Amino acid sequence: MEAPPTPLPVPSAELIAEIGENLAALRKRIAEVCDRARRCPSTVELMAVSKVHPAEALVAAFQAGQRLFGENRVQEFAAKREALAAYYSGPAVSASGPDEAGKPTRPIMHLIGPLQSNKTTKAAELFDAMDSLDSLKIAQRLNSTAAALGKVIPVLIEVKLSHEETKHGLPPEELGSLLASLAPLENLRVSGLMTVPPLDEAPEAARPYFRQLRELRDAHAKQYQSFTELSMGMSGDFEVAIEEGSTCVRIGTAIFGRRTVPSAEPV
Ligand SMILES: *Cc1c(COP(=O)(O)O)cnc(C)c1O
Repeated sequence: MEAPPTPLPVPSAELIAEIGENLAALRKRIAEVCDRARRCPSTVELMAVSKVHPAEALVAAFQAGQRLFGENRVQEFAAKREALAAYYSGPAVSASGPDEAGKPTRPIMHLIGPLQSNKTTKAAELFDAMDSLDSLKIAQRLNSTAAALGKVIPVLIEVKLSHEETKHGLPPEELGSLLASLAPLENLRVSGLMTVPPLDEAPEAARPYFRQLRELRDAHAKQYQSFTELSMGMSGDFEVAIEEGSTCVRIGTAIFGRRTVPSAEPV
């Protein structure tokens, strides 16, 4: 017997309005901080972190014009993808080009959580980019899968800048040697760095970590072409991150509201 079709995720009018307002408010705050920091707003991407929230929330954000999304678990997104397939399938840019607004025709999905080696194949199939790479072993597996799929996967290296036991990420002193080992992997494109600073109520507490990530990028940028991205800043501290050079802020709570289901990564 055939499996019943996955029900179409239909966001309510209230959800569409609420998420649309949150996105508009955020884009305004990003523009304001860019103005203060003398940066062009087009150099800062807004990533909507939809983890834990249902597919409806992602659809509502998409309808409000959002295209870049982050999810932190392969399994969780695999389930949502089933539900989303009714809306969006195929390449990000269809044969006839992007949509009228010049935007991708489906959500662009980045993996921003830890990847286990037994999930690299699935991750390479489901995600457009991997922003939390922190080991050569995972990189090698991802590279083989990408080669088999005929893709080049953009990756960011997640750096651990604090001494918290629970955090993922590469110790900064190992960055040089990891980059050298990644250079021959032709189906990965290493485009920059990502970090999650220790949780702190005060946004200013994150500033030294953001600054350190920028300095690390700058230290390696000459040697590696296209090593330009800095994924840093979340709902509580993205303004500080932009002042310190962030090129992508990863925002969950300020778009979708509080997460009620516990998740493995910072909540
Ligand atoms: C959950 C998560 C975010 C979003 O955090 P908010 O504080 O809800 O904006 C950003 N980055 C990573 C890696 C996450 O896991």
